[in-house]
Amino acid sequence: MDLKSHIRGVPDYPKPGILFYDISPLLAHSDAWAVAMGRMARLIQETGVDFIVGIESRGFLMAAPLALKLGLGFAMVRKKGKLPGDVVRHSYDLEYGSDTVEIQADLVKPGQRVVVVDDLLATGGTMNAAIKLLRDVGADVRAAAFLIELDFLEGRKKLDVPVLSLLNYD
Ligand code: 5GP
Repeated sequence: MDLKSHIRGVPDYPKPGILFYDISPLLAHSDAWAVAMGRMARLIQETGVDFIVGIESRGFLMAAPLALKLGLGFAMVRKKGKLPGDVVRHSYDLEYGSDTVEIQADLVKPGQRVVVVDDLLATGGTMNAAIKLLRDVGADVRAAAFLIELDFLEGRKKLDVPVLSLLNYD
């Protein structure tokens, strides 16, 4: 199945000059979503991880079905202030200002072999912050996995773990 035919390029979103890759048509097509999750699950299986982490919010739409499919636990990395109880946080710089990601402190066990999942790799800033956060809680981050990778932005150069991606755009 040609999964790219279910990804919609939206020009000038969220800002003029940006081409946004919209995954909504893929999610709206149950076969396409299932095929995508099957292919990503196979890539992840080869890494030997035992836990899945998803990045808010579209990353959850990949990570949760992958966790169920692979029979693994799942935890959420969220923007600050959205998770209850004890959290660990990591702040990172953006083009303008900064942002903070959080995870609940007790979900990932020290030494646990983790894959971090998001829908799309652009500059790599978001994934890099999530990986640092996970290392702060003692995780052994084995891979970063994406449905889509924007090759021209070279985000994988920012990541010091193997990068798995299903659909690549130049
Ligand atoms: P990065 O931090 O790698 O520059 O940006 C990746 C993050 O921004 C991901 O969490 C992703 O959801 C979001 N993102 C950036 N550009 C796009 C896009 O074109 N399509 C989608 N679906 N998400 C994007």
